[in-house]
Amino acid sequence: EQQREILDWQAFGTAARELAQAIADDGFRPDLVLSVARGGLLVAGALSYALDVKSIHMLNVLYYTGVDERLEAPVILDPVPDLRELSAARVLIADDVADTGATLEVVREFCAGRVAQVRCAVLYEKPHSTVACEYVWHRTDRWINFPWSSLPPVTDPSAPVTG
Ligand code: 5GP
Repeated sequence: EQQREILDWQAFGTAARELAQAIADDGFRPDLVLSVARGGLLVAGALSYALDVKSIHMLNVLYYTGVDERLEAPVILDPVPDLRELSAARVLIADDVADTGATLEVVREFCAGRVAQVRCAVLYEKPHSTVACEYVWHRTDRWINFPWSSLPPVTDPSAPVTG
């Protein structure tokens, strides 16, 4: 297997600050951060503090079942956030990585027509991604180990790690 890209907690802190700075420097002022769970949860939380955006929503999307193992297509799980009052909102979609891009395509499509403006921020974007995110911290074609998923769950220490 190809060597992995390792992001530890320390580097994650730096990455989130730098990504937020790029968004702020670009003049984008989101009204809410839409977190793509689960991988985007920590990214969304860090960005929302750094950008001083107090409103966070979450969209639960399931696609990967293991390292490079995917379902046929990403699936939006319940509960689906209600964006009906947010038609004028500028939305920042936050995720860990755009790999194939399929997940963010589904999320962008979900937002289209529901809100005023949508942009994507990710820590990593892979070269073959079908989505070009507006804000990308780093680019790689390797499998990435994120700090939140690089250890097995404490409930089953012998389980394989998924990230
Ligand atoms: P995509 O739909 O762009 O192929 O993948 C989106 C999701 O798959 C990511 O949000 C992430 O949860 C998972 N994923 C894709 N590539 C990687 C990777 O290199 N490392 C890890 N840990 N997860 C990944």
